[in-house]
Amino acid sequence: DLSLSPRVNAVKPSKTVAISDLATALVQAGVPVIRLAAGEPDFDTPLPIAEAGINAIREGYTRYTPNAGTMELRQAICRKLKEENGITYTPDQVVVSNGAKQSLAQAVLAVCSPGDEVIIPAPFWVSYPEMARLADATPVILPTSISDNFLLDPKLLESKITERSRLLILCSPSNPTGSVYPKVLLAEIARIVAKHPKLLVLSDEIYEHIIYAPATHTSFASLPGMWDRTLTVNGFSKAFAMTGWRLGYIAGPKHFIAACGKIQSQLTSGASSIAQKAAVAALGLGYAGGEPVATMVKAFRERRDFLVKSFKEIDGVKISEPQGAFYLFLDFSFYYGRAAEGFGKIEDSESLCRYLLDVGQVALVPGSAFGDDTCIRISYAESLTTLQAAVERIKKSLARLS
Ligand code: PLP
Repeated sequence: DLSLSPRVNAVKPSKTVAISDLATALVQAGVPVIRLAAGEPDFDTPLPIAEAGINAIREGYTRYTPNAGTMELRQAICRKLKEENGITYTPDQVVVSNGAKQSLAQAVLAVCSPGDEVIIPAPFWVSYPEMARLADATPVILPTSISDNFLLDPKLLESKITERSRLLILCSPSNPTGSVYPKVLLAEIARIVAKHPKLLVLSDEIYEHIIYAPATHTSFASLPGMWDRTLTVNGFSKAFAMTGWRLGYIAGPKHFIAACGKIQSQLTSGASSIAQKAAVAALGLGYAGGEPVATMVKAFRERRDFLVKSFKEIDGVKISEPQGAFYLFLDFSFYYGRAAEGFGKIEDSESLCRYLLDVGQVALVPGSAFGDDTCIRISYAESLTTLQAAVERIKKSLARLS
C-alpha cells in the first residue's frame, strides 16, 4: 500500500514556504509583489568571506572533511564562544552541520525519547514543534503576550514542567518577534531548570549579532550551573549573510554532542569543505563579526526604527519594539471581523495575509504559522525604499477595511 509513516503524517508542512511560493508565483506572473516573508538577509556575503570560499575551490580544498567539521573551524568556534559568549568548549564538544536547522534537528533527535515533552514558548520558529514531532516527542507550547514583549513567564514555565519534560527550546534574539531575553530573566529560568535534572535547554542563538543596543545577548550556557544543561546552537546564515552556504553548529557536553555527531555521520557526514573555509574567515572578521557585520546591523536598525515609527501611526496595530533579529511581529487583530468589497471578511492572520497579498501586493507571514494568530510577521531584510512602499500599500489596504 502507498501509506506514509505516522511520523511524517504528524508533521505540518511549512506555511512560510506556502506563502513564499504563492508570492513568487505572483511575481513570475508579472504582479509587482513586495516580498517581506523571507527569513534571509538582503545583503551579499561580505567579500573576505566569499573570497575564502573561492580560494578553497582554487586550492582544491574540495574533499570530504571530518564528520564533526574541520579542526580549524571547530577551534575558531571554540575561541569565538569563549571570547564573545563566555563559554568554554573544546573542539570535541562542537559539531558543525549543514545549517543551524540541522544542528537543532539532530539535538532533538539525540535527546528525546518517544513521549518526551519539548517545551516551546510561542511565538516560536516554525520548525521547533515539527522537529519534536519528527522525534516522536510532544511539543508543549507556552504562550507569551505582546504586552510582556513575548518573553516567557517563568511561573508559567514552572507550572508546565512534568516528569516527561526533556527539552526547553529558547530563541534569543527571537524569530519571529525580535525579542531579546534579558540576563535577569534567563537567570530566573536557569533557577527553574536547575531544579529539574532531566531538563535540558536548547539555546538557539543564531540572531546573536543582530541586536540593537542597549539590548545585549546572554548565552544560556554561561549562566551559573547551566553549562552541563545547555546545548548552544549558532550559525553563519543570519549575521554573516551566508544563508546559501549552509553552515551552523552545536556545542555542549560531549555526551550529547557525540550523539549529535553520530546521527550526522549516518545522515549527511561533514558539512561543505568550501563553506567551512569561508566560515573560518567569517570568524576572523573580528569581535562580533567586525565592521562588515556592524554595517549590516546598522542598516537593520534604521529599518526597524522606520517600521516601528510607521506602524505606531496606524490605527489599532499593537507593537512590541524588537530588540534584535530582522522581524516585526505586529498584532493586527483589531482588523479581524472587518471586510473589504470584493474580498469578504478578514477572519484571522491567514486571511489578513491573503488580503494584503491580493489587494496590497505585499507578502507577509501569518502569525498562526508561529503559534500566535493575532499577529503577522514582517521581515525587514529589504531596503528602506522598498519598506516605505510596503508601508504605504499596507496602510491603504487596511484603510479599505470596514
Ligand atoms: N533558527 C532560527 C530561529 C532561524 O530563524 C533559522 C533560519 O530561518 C534557523 C535556526 C536556521 O538557520 P540555518 O539552517 O540557515 O543555519
